[in-house]
Amino acid sequence: MESISRFSQRLLPTCLAENCLINPITSPFRLIPSLQFHPTLIPTSKPGPSDPNRIFSTRKTYRPSSSSSTLIASAGWILGLGDKKPALPEIVKAGDPVLHESAQEVEPGEIGSDRIQKIIDDMIKAMRTAPGVGLAAPQIGIPLRIIVLEDTKEYISYDRKDVIKAQERRPFDLLVILNPKLRKKGNRTAFFFEGCLSVDGFRAVVERHLQVEVTGLSRNGKPIKVDASGWKARILQHECDHLDGTLYVDKMVPRTFRTVQNIDLPLAVGCPKLGAR
Ligand SMILES: [Zn+2]
Repeated sequence: MESISRFSQRLLPTCLAENCLINPITSPFRLIPSLQFHPTLIPTSKPGPSDPNRIFSTRKTYRPSSSSSTLIASAGWILGLGDKKPALPEIVKAGDPVLHESAQEVEPGEIGSDRIQKIIDDMIKAMRTAPGVGLAAPQIGIPLRIIVLEDTKEYISYDRKDVIKAQERRPFDLLVILNPKLRKKGNRTAFFFEGCLSVDGFRAVVERHLQVEVTGLSRNGKPIKVDASGWKARILQHECDHLDGTLYVDKMVPRTFRTVQNIDLPLAVGCPKLGAR
């Protein structure tokens, strides 16, 4: 989920402006992963959409290994970047099938493996570089049930105080949750704009529960339980939705979808007022 929930990008420092993130001139390094990752997934068999064990293979599989490092190094050399820059996975954009399928659970016995640990590290790097407050593994082309999230004082400082208060947005430390199971608590909900790193430059109003409980496993394989409210609860719901192939646009309030630049314009007649219920 994007870190800047409300601000127009013209108000952001240059390093946070979305143009900076996608402009190949200002950010050439983001071109490199396209040589490594091909996010288009094809099923190895033809199971029905409800088949929970659906297996995917990629034409060019994500490989957080030394061989991919070699490829990245070569690409860096071609682009004149040298081989010392860290490789960053590309964030998959809306429309790619990996974002619209259910992700698979991580085998508990595999959590300690180099492969899973590298995926987690890459997710954290990608989230922080974007920058975002949350990321799900499918967003880097990995159909596994892993989410990472964090919100910082700095990110929050870019929004207005009254908005921060209304959203109940507070900083929290990095959370890594594997195989998360989300339970909504209570009946209270809130309507706010939210964005997604896979849907660049847009926002829409989404109704989310104000309180949730998420259980799952830490990156060390230990059981964890997170009780969250306000904006943190929204991020958790947004990221867990990704694991079920759901983007916020699949559950947004109709007629609220708009560009970031238009976020302060009035909502259409009949749309719910922003805030908690
Ligand atoms: Zn998202």
